Amino acid sequence: MTLKLDGKKLASEIEERLGSEIRTHSGLAKRPPGLAVIRVGDDPASKVYVSNKEKACNRIGIENFGEHLNAKSTESEIIQKINLLNNDEKVDGILLQLPLPKHINEKSLLAHLSPEKDVDGLHSLNLGRLVKNEPGPRSCTPAGIMALLKANKVSIEGKNVVVIGRSVLVGKPMSLMLQAANATVTMAHSHTENLSVLTKQADILVVATGCAQMIGARHVKPGGVVIDVGIHRIEKELSKGSAKKATLCGDVRSEEVASIVSALTPVPGGVGPMTVTMLLVNTVNSWQQHCNLPFSLKDLLP
Ligand code: NAD
Repeated sequence: MTLKLDGKKLASEIEERLGSEIRTHSGLAKRPPGLAVIRVGDDPASKVYVSNKEKACNRIGIENFGEHLNAKSTESEIIQKINLLNNDEKVDGILLQLPLPKHINEKSLLAHLSPEKDVDGLHSLNLGRLVKNEPGPRSCTPAGIMALLKANKVSIEGKNVVVIGRSVLVGKPMSLMLQAANATVTMAHSHTENLSVLTKQADILVVATGCAQMIGARHVKPGGVVIDVGIHRIEKELSKGSAKKATLCGDVRSEEVASIVSALTPVPGGVGPMTVTMLLVNTVNSWQQHCNLPFSLKDLLP
């Protein structure tokens, strides 16, 4: 039987634990943890993602300092906002929701985040810490995948892992976290030749390409573990001639690979909820540091 790597269930268990940490220690800290998600412009997917993050904060008692800025905001206006949040003692985490409008330089804004409040781990200092295997906030999506693998007792040490995708957001930090956990990691990307020859050798295959349903039966190793990071909204005719209905799918053709592999993340309900939860974990961890509280989340951090 194929194991469903249930991110939704694990995320809700972790949320319960975080909620209890916050209730227990807010008195001692004299304040709850605070998170500011900055959204610029009106990208519809970002609106949904940010709203999910804010709802998750509300559920567990993280105070929300989020900002929604106009699509025409200038870089210096956004930097001003970041500086205010950097200096606000009630704010433990700041996340810049990507993508930003085209006229904004993402790298320059990320460089202005206080590295200690960079709960998405995208500041160059934190990426450097990841490369050197030093503690620091880690990128939420790959950190969530590491937590999901650990909770499901998927062994990583010595395994052949292939990560498809080399973005700074997912593929690169994912490869580094897996290497730090002693996997033998191969990175593949859009210029990789004979992709299926590589992926067929993967004990663990992480797919983060942004190409809907590109990975199928011919790409996976029998008994392997497949992590599908992709998330796409597609319009489907459920029966011939019926009205089209929007459904979600990943980068993997799950119906095709499910009977071949030993474990697979569902879409939705796999990596997505873990991404949100790791944002909460990073925020609570940052609060514990800022307020000199005991660090209790080490087992969840890669
Ligand atoms: P990206 O576009 O920045 O990077 C995609 C990577 O895939 C690139 O490195 C590219 O070289 C590689 N790639 C593209 N086409 C390929 C092909 N045909 N063969 C091999 N490699 C190919 O995207 P990203 O930000 O890394 O995100 C990847 C996917 O993950 C997207 O679908 C995104 O929506 C999703 N995502 C999901 C979550 C979540 O929480 N579930 C979080 C972040 C990203």
